[in-house]
Formats: sequence, structure tokens, C-alpha cells
Amino acid sequence: MDPAPEFRLYNTLSNAVEPVVPREAGHLRFYSCGPTVYSYAHIGNFRSFLTADLILRTAEALGWRTTYVTNVTDVGHLTEDDAADASGEDRMAKALRSKEGERFANVWDLARYYTNELLADWNTLNLRDPAVRPRATEHIREQIAAVEQLIEKGHAYETEQGIYFSVASFEGYGRLSGNEAAEQLEQLVRDTVSDPGKRDPRDFALWKKDPKHLMQWYSPWGWGFPGWHIECSVMARAYLGDEIDLHAGGEDLIFPHHECEIAQSESLTGKTFSKHWVHTRFLQVEGEKMAKRTGNFFTVRDLVGTAASGGRGVDPLALRLALISGQYRKPFNFTKETLKASAKHVERFREILSAVDAAAAAGAGGADRVGERLDALYDRALAAMADDLNTPEAIAAVIEGFKLLGGMRAQLNAASAAGARAWIARVNALLGIVEHEKPLAERAADAKDADPDAVRIDALVAERYAARAARDFARADALRAELAELGVEVMDTPDGPKWKRASTL
Ligand SMILES: [Zn+2]
Repeated sequence: MDPAPEFRLYNTLSNAVEPVVPREAGHLRFYSCGPTVYSYAHIGNFRSFLTADLILRTAEALGWRTTYVTNVTDVGHLTEDDAADASGEDRMAKALRSKEGERFANVWDLARYYTNELLADWNTLNLRDPAVRPRATEHIREQIAAVEQLIEKGHAYETEQGIYFSVASFEGYGRLSGNEAAEQLEQLVRDTVSDPGKRDPRDFALWKKDPKHLMQWYSPWGWGFPGWHIECSVMARAYLGDEIDLHAGGEDLIFPHHECEIAQSESLTGKTFSKHWVHTRFLQVEGEKMAKRTGNFFTVRDLVGTAASGGRGVDPLALRLALISGQYRKPFNFTKETLKASAKHVERFREILSAVDAAAAAGAGGADRVGERLDALYDRALAAMADDLNTPEAIAAVIEGFKLLGGMRAQLNAASAAGARAWIARVNALLGIVEHEKPLAERAADAKDADPDAVRIDALVAERYAARAARDFARADALRAELAELGVEVMDTPDGPKWKRASTL
């Protein structure tokens, strides 16, 4: 095997692909911004979570230890936060008043529901769990303390409406986004509902005073809630320390969110917050911006759910493969064709995996005849991932390995099959596209509402198998019909029943 390659990633801060150099050798500590749980996360959000997942997997494949933190924003994200002014309405409160919000008793109920759904989708797409998944509402005390310290240090001030960070007090503001000219910054701030007490239109909110807000906490400035940016500064510091190795998120977060995080964190500690900044480019769907009004807006469940539940029956790992088939930093067009091609690949991976398992069990002796070639292909895949997450090249190497195995599966002896099985496991650990790493029951237990379809289908399939074993064919046929209605096809194989979703793509 080749020596481990150097891990290189594009750094938004320096505009260059650079080696990732953890402060503690061999231990990558990183933070990735999670979603605001006012709705289901869409596939564009997940592409960005997948980048963090691939960073984690690549670092581990290189033999590093990892501490990965990603948050859940369950308060304080205002509709105008992208305009740096933190005005507008809280996204959670707005969601509660919308049509979809009618089924929730209150805003806490809504947050809990969408957090659970996030975890379900996370598992469905075979994303690894972070070391910690903090929620903003569990860290309000630390956020208040951080705001107090920023005031003490002269980086923040109070107005009648809230507490603001003084951008003029922090020299490096604008370095990450390149928005360094004050003029440019002012243009980016759509100052429609501005607080007349603000000293500078660029200043952003750390705390909003609002005794009528649906989620409020008591602070030295009365009842209110924290600004969105401060939560990530505080939670990253709480779990990873003052200086972290890498910070990731979607490209929409570069400004103002990450710029504000840097200003807050570095003003608090006087140290460099994060050395490396990694941002995932937005995806397009069929060549257009994903938007609800054009009907090309997809959540994970819109695609992987069964037809009966309004989904399209796409294999979850096919969706994962499709979403990572383009490199995270390049323009990426998500199409039905990509999805169909990915589904074919994943189906083929599974077929060959079964054949390899069968050959390993058959136990005919002999020498390993594929190991070396497979090792070379794994090295090629890992080198591609270490080269700024070049997923197209890594996936091509994996497909080549499966082709090799597919071509010789009739002649696989036990030793070759064992080697092939180990290769598949390594490839899956790197890219997560061959099999789910968590068993279904565990996935379901993680998030209560996790993939309820799959749990139900498993139960129906097992019941039908039992009915057949008991020669109750009428019952077995009725169950098969019920499964067909759910868009599920059952296959009876020598190893017992298997099922797959009939895709309606
Ligand atoms: Zn964040």
C-alpha cells in the first residue's frame, strides 16, 4: 500500500487548496453548521452535510482521530439574517404560523419534530453521527455570558432593541468573504428594519430584546433571545476549544454568518478561530435554482419515501451517491438521469456484495487473486478524496473495483472473496455508498420517526414469510398485495425474502 497521502482542501480564507494541518497531529477537530429546524432539510442542505461527512470519513481513512461537532439551530435565526442585520421574523415562529405549522402545539413541539426528522434523514443517507450535536437552546447561558464578555471588552454595545457587535472594533471583518470595503458591506445590509440605535449599519445582533417572542430567556438585558451567529461561536468553543482546525458550511454561510462567527470568536479569545474554512457550493436541479414555486424543490423524503407516502421510491444510497457524484466545490446539476445512473450502480454494488458473501461462505480454497488490484483501486480512491474531496474520481475507482469483481465472481475462491469483502468494507467506510453502516433498528431508535415506512415494510415482509412457512397462502398473498400498494417488490431468495422499492422516477 502507498503511504497515506496528504489531506488537502480548498480554504476559503486563503482562496487556495492547502494541506489540512490539525493543531494536534493526527487529530482533526472540526465544526460544521447544521440546519435551522423550522422545516425539513432539503437535498441542497444535505449536500453540505455530506461534505462534512466526507471530511470525517477521509480523515479517518487517513488514520486520524476526529472530533466532529455539528449543531441544530432551534432558535434565533431571523428571516433577514442573510442581510447581516438580524431583523425580520424568527424562522421558527414564522413556521409555526404557516399552514404546515398548524399541527404543532407550540414552537418547542415544532423544533422537536423537525429535529427528529433531520436525524431520520441523516440516517437514511448514511451520514455518520457527530461526536456532539449541540442545540442552540441548550447553550443559552453560555451565549449570554459571551455577549457580556464582548460588551466588557468593548466589542459590543446595548441599544433599546438589543445588543450589537461593533464591526468597527474588529479589524479582520470581511477577510473571509472578501467583503472588506465598508461600502460593499453596507450594500449587503438591506437596512430595511434597522434599529435607529445602531452605531454602524454593518453591526449585527448578538441579542434581541423581545418579551413577546415565542422562545425567550431572561438575560441581564431583560427577556429576549440570542442572535443566530453567536450560537456557533459559543458551541464550537464549548466542545472544541478556542482554536479549531476546520469549519465547514454551505456557501451561503460565508457572509454574514461565518464572517460574524470569526469576529465574535476572535474578539473573545484573541486567537485564530479556525485555520481552514470549507464551503459547499449550492446545487441546481435540472439546470435551475431549486425553488418551491418551480416544483423542483426536494427534501430527502420527497425522493426516498414510498409512493404511498408521497415519495418516489428512490434507494437512499442512490440518492447519497448522486449527491456526492459532483465535487463539493464545483457547480453541480442534480438530475433525474444522475439519480437513475446512481440507482443502477448501487443495485450492482449490492448484487456483487451478495455474490462475494456467497463465495466466501462456499469456502473453496486457493490464493487471493484480486487483493492487489483492489488495494490499488482503494489507494486511488483515497488519494482522490484527500485531493480536495475529488468524489468523481474516487467513485470511478470504486466502480472499477466492482466491475473487476463482477467479471470474475463465478471464479471467486474463498480467499479472494474474503479479500473482496474487506475491500468493500473499506470502500464503504470511505464513501458510504454500498451499505448502511447502522442497522435499521438502530437507525429507527435514533430518531423516533425514522423511516417509518421501512420499519413497517420489514414487519410486513416478515409476516408474509411466516404466513408462507405456515402454508397460509391466502394471507401471504394479501400481504404481498399490501406491500405492492406501498410500492414495494418482494423477492423470495434462497437466503430468505428480500424487498426493494419500486422506483417511480
Ligand atoms: Zn453556524
